[in-house]
Amino acid sequence: MPFGYNGKILHVDLTRGTTRVEEPDEKWYRTYLGGTGFVGWYLLTHLAPGTDPLSPENPLVFATSVVVGAPLSGFNRYVVGAKSPLSGAFAETEAGGYFGPELKFAGFDALVVHGRSERPVYLWIRDGIAEIRDASGLWGLDNWLTLERLRQELGDPRVRVVSIGPAGERQVLFACLQNDLEHFNGRTGMGAVMGAKNLKAIAVRGTGKPALADPEKVKEIARWHNERIKSHPPNVGLTKYGTPGLLKSINDAGFLPTRNFREGWFEGAEALSAPVYHETIFHSNSTCWACAVRCKRRVERTEGKYPLDRRFGGAEYEALAALGSMLGIRDLAAVAYGNQRCNLYGLDVISTGAVIAFAMECFEHGILTPADTGGRELRWGDAEAMIWLIGEIASRRGIGDTLALGVKRAAARIGRGAERFAFHIKGQELAFHDGRGKTGMAMGFALSPTGADHIETPHDVAFQGDGIAKLFPLGLFDPVDPLKTDEAKVRFFFLGQKAWGINNVLALCNFTSVPIHAMTFGRLVEAVSAITGWDVSLYELMKAAERANVLARLFNNREGFTPADDTLISRWFEEMPSGPLRGKRIDPERFAELVRLYYEMSGWDEQGRPTRGKLVELGLDGLAGA
Ligand code: SF4
Repeated sequence: MPFGYNGKILHVDLTRGTTRVEEPDEKWYRTYLGGTGFVGWYLLTHLAPGTDPLSPENPLVFATSVVVGAPLSGFNRYVVGAKSPLSGAFAETEAGGYFGPELKFAGFDALVVHGRSERPVYLWIRDGIAEIRDASGLWGLDNWLTLERLRQELGDPRVRVVSIGPAGERQVLFACLQNDLEHFNGRTGMGAVMGAKNLKAIAVRGTGKPALADPEKVKEIARWHNERIKSHPPNVGLTKYGTPGLLKSINDAGFLPTRNFREGWFEGAEALSAPVYHETIFHSNSTCWACAVRCKRRVERTEGKYPLDRRFGGAEYEALAALGSMLGIRDLAAVAYGNQRCNLYGLDVISTGAVIAFAMECFEHGILTPADTGGRELRWGDAEAMIWLIGEIASRRGIGDTLALGVKRAAARIGRGAERFAFHIKGQELAFHDGRGKTGMAMGFALSPTGADHIETPHDVAFQGDGIAKLFPLGLFDPVDPLKTDEAKVRFFFLGQKAWGINNVLALCNFTSVPIHAMTFGRLVEAVSAITGWDVSLYELMKAAERANVLARLFNNREGFTPADDTLISRWFEEMPSGPLRGKRIDPERFAELVRLYYEMSGWDEQGRPTRGKLVELGLDGLAGA
């Protein structure tokens, strides 16, 4: 009998209207663990190279892991993956909340959706049973109404729902998924893939729980972890101010992306900062399943032209930067309202802010004119223009239809030199951390298989001075200078990527886990062993993270990505024009040399392809030609 997991993967074929249950063996579970490991395996084995991401053949994978649902803070996420319609590359995007544990409690460790339904449907999964149901009455509804109607229809307020909004239905290429209005699989356009399948929502309810190998040990680790969360400084900060607490320090350090990455310091940051947020729009903390950190924010505003409803997740750091500093907007209520509109429509707020910033810079340079925007001006700092564009993108109206393609394709459609202001890596817009201020994270942006991904590796700034002690278990003993781009930084990235990669294969929250937050490497290994009954080691977990990364790399190699795609945006090769990092730049030749060093350390050839030796070491040689 498995401990910690169910041993069952649910497959749903929307073309045929059928379901089936796969029961992989223990070796498969222990090899891939869950999350990005499961996604990589299914994409390599179930998708032919060159497939259109919006075709029925693109499988949409929802993966928990062998430990999700165990009663520990942060053991509550799930990863959604497919081939990305935004980038054409490997896609995976994680979310917290309650959906992941509920899927486990309903009897499944993962769900793989194949095919395309002829008409709108939703899935209803409860205690080992799955049904495909008609969703014509839900199609066209926003995420809020979809959740309300489904809970009414199913007669249970505790049903957990993942849904797409109108943006996903219309296949905006960066449409996202939401669960319970507060949690988002934001990146890589998985909402468009779900929309292309005519799948509006997935509702889950489960009353079982996978058995734990050593429940008393799990309880003891949970008590220790929750106590440590109360005093571990990064967690204390998250409980008090959530991710909005990061904005001021990032601005003070000079790497808050401002006006489409042109600058790294925003003069209006104070108005978006955590103290102002908490004095004006904050309502209460919110949380994910069984988590003691409670980092999520709820916001409320009943008066004024930007009303805020506390049932939505409040703006996180990325939303404040996306719709604030990136657009030169300092009106916090407007930024929070724009975030709420993105949540309603099902738009990834990061890509949405980035495409609006791109449009504003094109407008500034006369590449877009009122003739392109129906007479509307798009100026930095104009909150009304931002809110209007969010609606146009979600509806795919006018200029919104072009911006719905993401900056890379939008620039190609606009022409007239627009690509100069279209900042993306592998086709995906960047989250809001200027790489000139943390070069290890910049390596993550360049080398993430999903394109620009700010959580590919822990950010350099957490390991200055004594902070490096967090990485001693990886054999890293020297503090990391965030501004240096050198061999030591590649070593930091190489190891840090595998440390954070553990969280993605186990579907754990980075804000509770290694290496920055309260869970330590040693206790994590104990927890996984106590949950599964396997005698796991840190080596085994890091190898699983590396295996998942190599699966994604094989996928991208197959799709035609090359070393030319493992790079940064042109602005970061230029000197920062102002602020605390004035004059800082990343040298492009040196950066390319260090990317090649990373390949060498990884056992990849000069074209960035894992060597046969590496594949044999990871036990993936049988999959290389899949
Ligand atoms: S730390 Fe925050 S995001 Fe992570 S599980 Fe807890 S509440 Fe959710």
